[in-house]
Amino acid sequence: ATNPIPIREALKLQPGQEVKVRGWVYRRRDLGDKAFVVVRDSTGIIQSVFTPESKSHSEARRVTVESSVIVSGKLREDPRAPGGKEIQGEELVIVGLAENFPIRRDVSREFLLDVRHLAVRSRKMTAVLKIRHTAFGALHEWFRENGYYEVQCPMFVSAAVEGGATLFPVKYVDESTVYLTQSSQFYLEALIYSLEKVYTVAPSFRAEKSRTRRHLTEFWHAEAEAAWVGLDGILRVEEELVSHIVRGVLERNREELALLGRDTEKLELVEPPFPRISYDKAIEILQSRGLNISWGDDLGADEERVLTMEFDKPFFLYGFPEKVKAFYHKNDPSRPEVTLSADLLAPEGYGEIIGGGERIERLDELVAKIKRFGLNPEDYRWYLDLRKYGTVPHAGFGLGMDRLVMWIAGLEHIVDSLPFPRTVARTYP
Ligand code: ATP
Ligand code: MG
Ligand code: MG
Ligand code: MG
Repeated sequence: ATNPIPIREALKLQPGQEVKVRGWVYRRRDLGDKAFVVVRDSTGIIQSVFTPESKSHSEARRVTVESSVIVSGKLREDPRAPGGKEIQGEELVIVGLAENFPIRRDVSREFLLDVRHLAVRSRKMTAVLKIRHTAFGALHEWFRENGYYEVQCPMFVSAAVEGGATLFPVKYVDESTVYLTQSSQFYLEALIYSLEKVYTVAPSFRAEKSRTRRHLTEFWHAEAEAAWVGLDGILRVEEELVSHIVRGVLERNREELALLGRDTEKLELVEPPFPRISYDKAIEILQSRGLNISWGDDLGADEERVLTMEFDKPFFLYGFPEKVKAFYHKNDPSRPEVTLSADLLAPEGYGEIIGGGERIERLDELVAKIKRFGLNPEDYRWYLDLRKYGTVPHAGFGLGMDRLVMWIAGLEHIVDSLPFPRTVARTYP
């Protein structure tokens, strides 16, 4: 007997050849005395048809959706079949007969999340996961080709990076309270003193209380930090990196994007340089569109959505007021009320995917700002040490990988960008 081959390969063979494939039953129906079994594997789907003359006609009639099977027979042309070819079924071996599969067309979104461990088999989820795979791979490619060292940072931490409101406390071994990390930034900053350019890809945890389309409580965070780099330099890194990832997906995942119904026209435009607009200008635009917002306010998803309508590619928003950005952001020496920070917003309504900028390098400036923010310098002892021993100008950023995938794949909700989402409402399955 021949060995099983991937369905994608089987569909490329000439009609008349014997083939064997294995996978899971995607669809099954009877038409007169013929049994049609569509089989799915990680590479695609193929139809097989079993007539009463074939050895496994009765197996083909009784096999259920999502059963695992091995199917063999002769390939033949059929314009009505997916992929234009089908298997004239000879043998069908049932490896694992599935019970009545709970997922049907009419089930609710909530139910699909309850059975996520089964829903991950869907062709759409498979397509998203393949795109996600490309995105993570392309990210590593870009950093490694551009002289960044990959490092790993702890998940248990003792201080807040992004503010206390979203901290997850954990009872530690000695009964003291520690927290799950909100960002690896401070650790990356410590590592630039030896490696100069570093990055990491890890989960970050934030106890986000509001239910939005773009917040998870555990998300995949790609963060980078570089010595001797300023705001302009780090924005160039961000635009090159994001463009490289989008290019990679366009090269390798056309089929998946099509299956998801993603219009790729706007993705084709993702090439550096990205437009840059100031926070001041953004406020003017928002006010002229009738939004009730004034200088000094933070921008939320609604404001960002309005701004994304002005551009058909990702764009930077820079020069945020001191108050709306975390304490470690460096203030603009020529205009101290604003920071040398920038967010990267994805177009088509998606909004913030990256936050970044220059960090404060001087000890006195950092201590003063920590106090201005009502925080205690004692809590940041080791972070302050970094400014005492050979401080350097440096900059960095954090990219939300789930948000990046959400935008590239054209998804409506962030939970659909990863297999097992964690949100305020869900930690199961
Ligand atoms: P937002 O304004 O949407 O709450 P943020 O400004 O708090 O985001 P940053 O601290 O700048 O986020 O984190 C860097 C990046 O990490 C963000 O640009 C975003 O892509 C991603 N990110 C932040 N929080 C979340 C979350 N809860 N779920 C998914 N991704 C997130
Ligand atoms: Mg936030
Ligand atoms: Mg933000
Ligand atoms: Mg941000």
